[in-house]
Amino acid sequence: TTQKQTHGFQAEVKQLLQLMIHSLYSNKEIFLRELISNASDAADKLRFLALSDSSLYGNEGDLRVRVSLDEAAKTITISDNGIGMTRDEVISHLGTIAKSGTKEFFSQLSGDQSKDSKLIGQFGVGFYSAFIVADKVTVRTLKAGAAPDSAVEWESAGEGDYTLASADKTSRGTEIVLHLRDGEGEFLSKWKVESIITKYSDHISIPVEMWEEGTAEREEDGEKIPATEGHWKAVNKATALWMRDKSEVSDDEYQEFYKHISHDWTEPLSWSHNKVEGNTNYTSLLYVPKKAPFDLWNRDARHGLKLYVQRVFIMDDAEQFMPSYLRFIKGVLDSSDLPLNVSREILQDTKVTQSLRKGCTSRVLKMLEKMAKAEDQTEYQSFWDEFGQVLKEGPAEDHANKESIAKLLRFSSTHVDTAVQSVGLEAYVSRMKEGQDEIYFLVGDSFEAAQHSPHLEVFRKKGLEVLLLSDRIDEWLMQHLTEFDGKKLRSVAKGGLDLSKLDDEDTKKAQEESEKQFAGVAERFKTALGDQVKDVKVSHRLTDSPACVVTDEFDMSTQMIKLMESVGQ
Ligand code: ADP
Ligand code: MG
Repeated sequence: TTQKQTHGFQAEVKQLLQLMIHSLYSNKEIFLRELISNASDAADKLRFLALSDSSLYGNEGDLRVRVSLDEAAKTITISDNGIGMTRDEVISHLGTIAKSGTKEFFSQLSGDQSKDSKLIGQFGVGFYSAFIVADKVTVRTLKAGAAPDSAVEWESAGEGDYTLASADKTSRGTEIVLHLRDGEGEFLSKWKVESIITKYSDHISIPVEMWEEGTAEREEDGEKIPATEGHWKAVNKATALWMRDKSEVSDDEYQEFYKHISHDWTEPLSWSHNKVEGNTNYTSLLYVPKKAPFDLWNRDARHGLKLYVQRVFIMDDAEQFMPSYLRFIKGVLDSSDLPLNVSREILQDTKVTQSLRKGCTSRVLKMLEKMAKAEDQTEYQSFWDEFGQVLKEGPAEDHANKESIAKLLRFSSTHVDTAVQSVGLEAYVSRMKEGQDEIYFLVGDSFEAAQHSPHLEVFRKKGLEVLLLSDRIDEWLMQHLTEFDGKKLRSVAKGGLDLSKLDDEDTKKAQEESEKQFAGVAERFKTALGDQVKDVKVSHRLTDSPACVVTDEFDMSTQMIKLMESVGQ
């Protein structure tokens, strides 16, 4: 063994550890879920690499996780025969947080632990949760295919640093020893640990085993029962959850599975599990998260589904199966139509990829539609508040599904007159006035600016509802969403607006009168303003304000001009 070397944790790791221990204290047992989840990921990764190099299995082809308890030493050990880690991997995976945007995220923490611990949930709990129950953690690992003398030992008390040394470990995989803190003795009870595994890890597709003591020969009702030897026994179901029949999977199991694949620690909002057979063959299990991840707007953030081919894990973050406007969806796709040796490159543009993507997209849209139609709107509203901005990219990106996406959109409007985006286009249409054949909207720099725009005066007076838009993306959205349910969407800030159909004869007469009366004034304005304006017209749009600036029907709106300027156009 070489000398131990001491390394410092990345600053963010220290922060994460502090917050995690603090905020998860009442739910400590999840450390076991996290470590078993990692062991299962490690098995998946090995199985994938072995597709092209079966020698990696050596003489240990049956992948499993083992959990053992040592009452005397007060340790609980989780060991797997998965992919293992090299020394460099140990340093980067167990000493840093590699996610993009981590630094920015941590710099936003307030220092108020209760607020921060809510935020930190977006990070997923992971390996470091071991320190909730352990005051020392020892990891020994040997990478698949590496020389037996290259095993590494990592050890830490979860404070500022950890040590690295070489380890005596000749079998492939990773072994994690938790030295339990005083008072955490309950995790030495076999019954307790078994029940935690069943609760959180039943869906793990490899066996999670615990040691079963042998029994001596005995007699029961005059019958001899032979002695048994001690053996490792699976505690979980050990079948891939998505392959099971829907009716056999409980909500709890679906939720735990979500946490396993998403690295999110809150329950999902909703899910959809489908088996499709026919032209394309696949099983998908897709989840809508409750909370947006901190890196939803980070261009480099990874997203996409976990891809399996005939239950063999192929890759994480396969983004080819979800359009970008649904990038928040988490889940598993298992197809038998793709070859086992499929690569990201091959996936790029095959027919199979396209039809799988189409299928998955429509599943998600259906799931959202169901939520959007529910009597109780709280669930959909909370979805919209988290992900609405992303969904608004939909009409521009996905022409085929434009109408279904449009039904899912929610806006503020003069009908509700609050900043909450809760008005759907269908609801708008159902409230349209006799003779109204267009859907009116106004884009402003902020909700307040839109709400108080002089353009709205005449609409308010006539009782016509106007959608009030003020998100950055809205201008872009409205360029692609020009029609809904056969009705044009029309900006009230643009020219060419004719509300006369909605007026009675008397009003029309009066308007013609005033047009004649003010024609001269308009002409003088025009001469005075010269090149600065295209035209000056007498308008009936305003009721209280004397004048307003409008853009021509086919010109860029003032918001669009600002947007273009802000990106340097
Ligand atoms: P996550 O699982 O979300 O990536 P974790 O904190 O749980 O985050 O784990 C960090 C990383 O450490 C994993 O991504 C993996 O690369 C590595 N790792 C953890 N446990 C194991 C293990 N049992 N075998 C191999 N690698 C592991
Ligand atoms: Mg993990």
